[in-house]
Amino acid sequence: MSGHKKPEADRRFARFGTVSFTATSKVNDFIDYLEDGQVCGTKCRTCGAVFFPPRAQCFKCRDQAAIEWFQVSGSGKLATFSELKYAPTGFGGDLPYAIAVLDMGEYKLFGRIGYVPLDEVRVGMELVPQAHQLPDGQIIYVFNRP
Ligand SMILES: [Zn+2]
Repeated sequence: MSGHKKPEADRRFARFGTVSFTATSKVNDFIDYLEDGQVCGTKCRTCGAVFFPPRAQCFKCRDQAAIEWFQVSGSGKLATFSELKYAPTGFGGDLPYAIAVLDMGEYKLFGRIGYVPLDEVRVGMELVPQAHQLPDGQIIYVFNRP
């Protein structure tokens, strides 16, 4: 027998989210950045397109070699949010919580409000995206006050 070992699948993405819907992705480095406390997107060096969630290929100019990571930095303005009273399967223990769109200027982020009481959440308020580890070891990002 030759002892060939099947290469192990890169399952880093299984660690993402309250419920992970995919174990692997072409943007698995996203998880390593989150573990380092960085929320990252991707940017196309050729046409300047910015992607969040990160994409491994630019669908605008189709230059696959030109994608690079960038760290989301600074704060954004809350563009809109929605408080969930009913949750998808697996998220029931988190209720009530809010999903939100944060306008960073050049791009927008979709995510969850973190430690801001829901009755204090207002459109236009300043929030920062932050990496956050859940008690079970899963990793997410949330929007918190600066
Ligand atoms: Zn491009």
